Order: sequence, then C-alpha cells, then structure tokens
Amino acid sequence: MDIRVDTVRKEFSHYPALNDVSLEVKSSELIALLGPSGSGKTTLLRLIAGLEMPTAGRIYFGDEDASSKTVQERNVGFVFQAYALFRNMTVLDNISFGLKVRPRATRPPKAEIRRRAMELLDLVQLSGLEKRFPQQLSGGQRQRVALARALAIEPRVLLLDEPFGALDAQVRKELRKWLREIHDRTGHTTVFVTHDQEEALELADRLVVMSQGKIEQVGTPDDVYDRPNSPFVFSFIGESSSLPVTVENHELWVGGRAIGLPAPNDAVGEANLFFRPHDVELVEDGVSAALAGVVVASRRVGGTRRVELEIGGLPERVEIDLPFDHPAGERTRIAFRPKRWRVFPAAAV
Ligand code: ATP
Repeated sequence: MDIRVDTVRKEFSHYPALNDVSLEVKSSELIALLGPSGSGKTTLLRLIAGLEMPTAGRIYFGDEDASSKTVQERNVGFVFQAYALFRNMTVLDNISFGLKVRPRATRPPKAEIRRRAMELLDLVQLSGLEKRFPQQLSGGQRQRVALARALAIEPRVLLLDEPFGALDAQVRKELRKWLREIHDRTGHTTVFVTHDQEEALELADRLVVMSQGKIEQVGTPDDVYDRPNSPFVFSFIGESSSLPVTVENHELWVGGRAIGLPAPNDAVGEANLFFRPHDVELVEDGVSAALAGVVVASRRVGGTRRVELEIGGLPERVEIDLPFDHPAGERTRIAFRPKRWRVFPAAAV
C-alpha cells in the first residue's frame, strides 16, 4: 500500500508543528523519519496513523483519501518506544489481541487466531515463550512481541515510533538487522521514526530528514549522506566541518588565498565550504590546490585523530581527521577529496 501525504499542515493551538509537508511512500518501502527533537517526526507519523487529524492537506492510502478515516478504518499497525503490552496477558494473548477484539463478522475462528499468533511468534523468533507474561521478558523480547502484535492484524501499513529507543546499544543493533529481515520477508510499507542517524542510514530504503516542521531532504541513505542539499542536512547526517569562503573569478578563496577549487556555477560572494573531516588528505608543499594551516590541537575520535587547524585569516579553527597524531605547531597543507565537498551560500547556514 503506498501512502501519499499531500501538503499537510498541523497546528497545535496555532503553533505549526508541521508546515505544508508532502511525501510519497512507495508500497513495501521502509522509510525513516529522521530529525532533531521537536522537528515533527512523531506528529507526521500520528497523522498517517489517524491518531491526529491534519489542520490542512490530505493523506491518501493508495487511491483512497484516508484523511478523515479512523485508526481502525486505516488498518495500521503500530509499535511505540514504550512497550505498550498488556501486563496481565501472556505473550500469545498479547499477539492475538487485535484479532480477538474484531467484530464477529471479520473475526477469524479461534483456532485460526492461535495458528496465526504462533506463526508470528516464530517469525519474531520467540517460539517457546508464548505462555510468559511481558514482565518475564527482556526489553528486546518485549519489542519483538509488540511487533508481532502489530503484524497480527495484517495491517496495510506499519508505523514504528522509536521502537528501539529504550534499549541498550547492542540490543538496538541486533533488532535493527532483524527488523530489516522481517520487513523484507513480509513486505509491509513501513514508516519509522528515529533520531538515531546510524539506525536510519542502516535500515531505511529512503530517509526523510526533518527540521522545524518541514522536510529538508528525502533520499536514499547514499543521497543524503553523499549529496546533502543544505547545510542543515550536511551537519545533521554524519560528521561535518565547514569554513567560510569567498567566491571570486569562479574560484574559492579562504583568508585571501585561492585554494584551487572551482566554485559551483551558482555560487557568488560569501559562502561556506562543507566537507566531512575525513575527506581531506595531507599534501606536499608544491601542490597548489591546497589549504595551509597550523595544527593547534588533536584528539582521538574512534580510530582516527581529529586535528584542529588554524588557517591564516580565519577566526575559527577547522577540524579534519588524519590517521596519525600531529604535534601542535606543525604546519600542514591539506587538499579536499574531489566531489566530497559542497558550497552553500552564507545566508543558507
Ligand atoms: P521528538 O524526537 O522529541 O519526539 P519530534 O520530531 O517527534 O520530536 P513532535 O513530537 O512531532 O516532534 O513535535 C513537533 C512540535 O509540535 C514540537 O514543538 C511539539 O512541542 C509540538 N507538539 C507535538 N504534539 C503536541 C500537542 N499535542 N500539543 C501541543 N504541541 C505539540
């Protein structure tokens, strides 16, 4: 089932939590809504679910206008961060719940409900635990039960709000892989909210990067990581460094010196050069396409050294990653890897 969000606006007491958002989710796609706290991710998810109604705009499920339909009519499955399992019900009863409470006309026979629930238990790799109660399970196991329960109603769309948010890093990583496998087997159109970019980059077919109630960029993980379309996306996804540049004679200048990089066609006047700290390399003195600096400090970041450089004529230091430590005071020259940098007008920052 594909979903189309068409120019949706959502206000809470006149505060616009979502500002004319449009998005198309393709059938069987796994989409991540990613953005800082308060950017509108949960609001968008709740609007798709039918838990909130838009102030303006429409939401379509396939060709059907679902904008004024209830949660039940939309037939969506949810998983939230807090395990919303029924404490007084066994795992099996939790999974079966959505089918058992259906009106008689659409409720499958008892034996069929049990068969389906057992099948889902197997899918989420919890066979043998059907008689346990939620409090007898680990956090990761509870989230798997929550997912099985969401899948039991055979939803048209699966919506997950920070489903692994409350779990420790190791369990999160395992469940991430597992969710992708389950998705590939069941093929549900899935939208999940996360503020964890690593999770989004690893799991999703496409990412929707949000900021201040707007969509900044939609694209594959490679699109948003390698070709961010704004300073916000560049800084929000992955590590980033930047420095002020001036565009003169179709070239980039830093602190009064040309650094041997061509300016993009549309760049004029004051701008900012954005790059990943690891997308630079040290070069010899003779190389002209380079930026000269002096090492001020360095520290270990994972497997590399994050080195702070002072560039003549710039008030702020520039951070780069180098494989080895470099002593303070060392003069260096760095070159930017081709196509791994972007220039944005100064006003865009
Ligand atoms: P987080 O990552 O912190 O969950 P989010 O990106 O999911 O954030 P939302 O929960 O969608 O953000 O909130 C977007 C904005 O709308 C926030 O400024 C929030 O305070 C506001 N908001 C959300 N729900 C309500 C509500 N029921 N009443 C009033 N304001 C709300």
